[in-house]
Parts: sequence; C-alpha cells; structure tokens
Amino acid sequence: MFSGGIRLCRLFGTEILLHPLWFLLLAVFVLPSLLAGQVAAAATITLFLIFLSASVIGHEFAHIFVGRWYGIQTEKVIINFFGGAAMMERIPFGIPESNIGMAGPLFSYVLGVLLSLPFWCGVPHTSFVLDFIYQVGYINLFLGLFNTLPIFPMDGGRILRGVLFHFNRKIVLSTKIVMIVGFCVIPIAFVTLIPPTFFSIIIVGLIIKMCLDEYNMVKMAYKDVSDPNKLDPLRVSQCEALIYVFGPDSKDVVDFIREHTNPEFDRVIIEKISAWRLLDPLDKRKLQIETLHKTMRISLEDAARMSRDIKLPGVGDD
Ligand SMILES: [Zn+2]
Repeated sequence: MFSGGIRLCRLFGTEILLHPLWFLLLAVFVLPSLLAGQVAAAATITLFLIFLSASVIGHEFAHIFVGRWYGIQTEKVIINFFGGAAMMERIPFGIPESNIGMAGPLFSYVLGVLLSLPFWCGVPHTSFVLDFIYQVGYINLFLGLFNTLPIFPMDGGRILRGVLFHFNRKIVLSTKIVMIVGFCVIPIAFVTLIPPTFFSIIIVGLIIKMCLDEYNMVKMAYKDVSDPNKLDPLRVSQCEALIYVFGPDSKDVVDFIREHTNPEFDRVIIEKISAWRLLDPLDKRKLQIETLHKTMRISLEDAARMSRDIKLPGVGDD
C-alpha cells in the first residue's frame, strides 16, 4: 500500500497515490465544522477538497503528457496536502524543462477561466452548484498563479531554470539563481497572496527547505561533471556511438548533449562530430557498422544489414 502514499488508481499508465499528509487538510478544514456540529458545511468542504485534488491530478497529468512528448515516463503521482508531485524518471535541462513546467499551470489557468467564465459574463451565483463551480474555478486560477511563482519546487522555478540554462548552459549556476530569486519572491508572495496563518507559515518553511534541497541535490549531482578532469569516458563513448549510428543531428544526440552541461564534454563531442563530418561516406558506413556490432553485440553481417536500414545524412546507399 505504501510507496509514498495510499494507492488510488492507475491512470494513463501512471499510478496515483494519496500521501497520508493529505488527511491533514481534513483535520485543518473539515474537523472544526464537524466539531461545531455543522455537518452540511463539513460535507461541502470535503467535496471541495476532492474537486481540488482532482484539479491537481489534471495539473500533474499536463506535466506528464508534455514529459512523455520528450520521451520521459512518469511512474507515479503523489497528491499531498499542499499539491501534487509527478515523479518523472528524469528532469531534462533547458527548454524541455520549461515546457514541462509550463504545462501544469497552463492547465490550471484554462480550467479556472472556463469554470469562472459564466460569472464573469454576469451569471449570478443563484445556486449552491453554481457557487461551488465558481469556487473550484477560483482555486484553479490561484493554483495556476501560485505555481507560476519563480520559486523551487514550484513550476515557475523550473520554467525560469530551463530558460536560464538555455542561455548559460550551467545547471548549478541556473539553479542557484532561481534559489536566490525564490528567496526574494517568497516573502512578497506570502504577504500579498496568503494571509499569515499557522498553516501558511508551515508551507513557507517547507518551500524554503525544498528550495535549498533542490540546489544541494543539483550541486551534488553535477559537481563532478563541471570538473574537466573527471570527464566520464562511458558518457563520451555513449554519445560517440549515438553519433555514428544515428548521425550528429539526431534528436537522441541533441538530447544527450543537452543533458551534459560540462563545457569540456561539449568540446570533446564537438571534436568528434567535426571529425565524423570530415569522413567520406564509405568510412562513415564502416564506422557505423563497427559501432552497431560493438554496442548491440550483433555479428558484423547483421550490423551491415541493420546499417542499410538507417538513413544517415552524408551516408549513401553503397
Ligand atoms: Zn505543476
């Protein structure tokens, strides 16, 4: 039952889990009404929390679908008391990270606008159902706005880091800038957006902690990569194999290089791509067959057969 939460269901190949802390929402928002004997109010708030969680699931699936477009799978989504988290197998750098980050708030904005539209057009709040729809729309607009703030671990932080990385190609520095921006935005956001309650102070504390965690994690994971003396030969040879098999401009090669922010890694790969481009088509085909033979552990004859099926720029059908 527990691998981060209580299993709710499986949707589009992704597991949806409810974190035990979600029940804190019930304790904070429903229990007081229940204790005061206001059963109808308690039921309305519970229903509202269920609709809010469904909106969060929709928001997370917007991230998941854009992630899949980039070939990234998501095993599970965890619904927590302060939102949701799609556990993607990896987070790409640069514009893909921005696009995945943008999808969620965009979903919340669109849903919020659609649900609020009748009231903006002058339809009065005459019934419980209409009022309820308006409230769900309003919370979705808030969810979109809150998530667009340029703070980790919010989507706005990821959108900003993706854009920064696109220009500076330095993941640790980009993360550091977003963390500093976040520390400036957090006090302003919480003074203007959220009334200072015990609950919101806990959330601010958690966000600051997650902000620091993200930076420390990225620093730990990529500190070796920024050291040219520790260039990973396996990664270089993986990239080399991709160049020889699919061509230097294939999506796989571009994605692979994008994931390696080390300028030294880039320099080595650019050298390999230049050397590959200077080869004549026959040598390219030979290198491609040898690489297929080595990396896929198939016979040279099978590699030659496979090579004929791979269209490669600058390699003719000899
Ligand atoms: Zn999101």
